[in-house]
Amino acid sequence: MLQRIYGTAFETVDELNQYLWRLEEAKKRDHRRLGKELGLFSSSPEVGGGLILWHPKGALVRHLAEDYCKKEHLSNGYDLVYTPHIGKSELWQISGHLAWYKENMYSPIDIEGEEYYLKPMNCPFHIMIYKSQIHSYRDLPIRLAEWGTVYRFERSGVLHGLMRVRGFTQDDAHLFCRADQMPAEIDRVLNFCLHILQKFGMKDFHAYLSTRDPEKSAGDPQKWEDATLALQAALERVGLSYDIDPGGAAFYGPKIDLKMIDALGREWQLSTIQFDFNLPERFDLTYIGEDGNSYRPYMIHRALLGSMERFMGVLIEYYGGAFPVWLAPVQAILIPIADRHIPYANTLSETLKAQGLRVHVDDRGERMNAKIRDAQNQKIPYMLVVGDKEMESGEVALRMRNGDNPGAIPLVDFLARAAEDVAAGN
Ligand SMILES: [Zn+2]
Repeated sequence: MLQRIYGTAFETVDELNQYLWRLEEAKKRDHRRLGKELGLFSSSPEVGGGLILWHPKGALVRHLAEDYCKKEHLSNGYDLVYTPHIGKSELWQISGHLAWYKENMYSPIDIEGEEYYLKPMNCPFHIMIYKSQIHSYRDLPIRLAEWGTVYRFERSGVLHGLMRVRGFTQDDAHLFCRADQMPAEIDRVLNFCLHILQKFGMKDFHAYLSTRDPEKSAGDPQKWEDATLALQAALERVGLSYDIDPGGAAFYGPKIDLKMIDALGREWQLSTIQFDFNLPERFDLTYIGEDGNSYRPYMIHRALLGSMERFMGVLIEYYGGAFPVWLAPVQAILIPIADRHIPYANTLSETLKAQGLRVHVDDRGERMNAKIRDAQNQKIPYMLVVGDKEMESGEVALRMRNGDNPGAIPLVDFLARAAEDVAAGN
């Protein structure tokens, strides 16, 4: 009998300790465990595997993230669109998905004798929006963005929390531009990706550039070359470290994958910037040039956070559930020491809410220390303890989720501190 024994060897005790720390830390940060403990999300056998239910706190975090991103898209030259969850087989035939992506799609739905498919991608819908009118060279670039929910077949054995699911929402966009606009468009989208990711506190990135495999590629080799050079030049200009995956591109175009590196040294795939030389041909996308002739635009697929489900999983693991103040579902909890302090806590709560803070009053009949412990477990950024002394002075006794204990401060000072933390992304 052959028995396989796995081992990991370390040069020094330090390295071994590092390794053990990472194992322990990864366990503590597991998004499935934290998702349950913090009341963020769940899934259930009755609903079906890989289909996520967002509970109020998780939904709020997701809403705040999406809301921020949508506003940034609108102020950075994108147009938001909405498209359906299903489309006729004809659409997926034109797009080629039924020819090369069918194993990732679910069985069709019969509607009045015609077959409709759940969308595995948003692209064909955005293309139909582009095609719904004639474009002049002056209209470009056009940037269509959608938080589009897609469905892809995954075997039940590989489903994993928020990371591998069957239904997910992409922060998807498709860019259509002219050849002369293309390099600047790539610079712009890469900088936009970094700008958004940095808002979420993410700082360390590594990029992968996948280039053409001459054996299996659609489209003009010169366009491939130009696109690949533009991607590489953009990476150089923003100063990102990157690896090249020669021949690793999909048959329809070169791409950049952007991965975030967390405190444990783990890489998380987030943004993708992907050229497409196939769909513009299949859908015959054109614009009218300055000379009156019609030209094929460049088309670029771009997902920034990737899938919202997966991004939330990454975010939970990145922060170990202790979201920065601007994303925390409950930002401050008021802890009355005894029942007689509850009315004062309620008054403070109203004042703080009026200032835009997300506040909760812990009016349970528990002891103060139990309330503090629970608030710490819930990773609530600020605990405001109020008793006789605070009632008299009109102050709050501030405690932080990391154990810091600044003590009694006037309410205005607390508000200033909270505003500073929100602005700084703490
Ligand atoms: Zn796409």
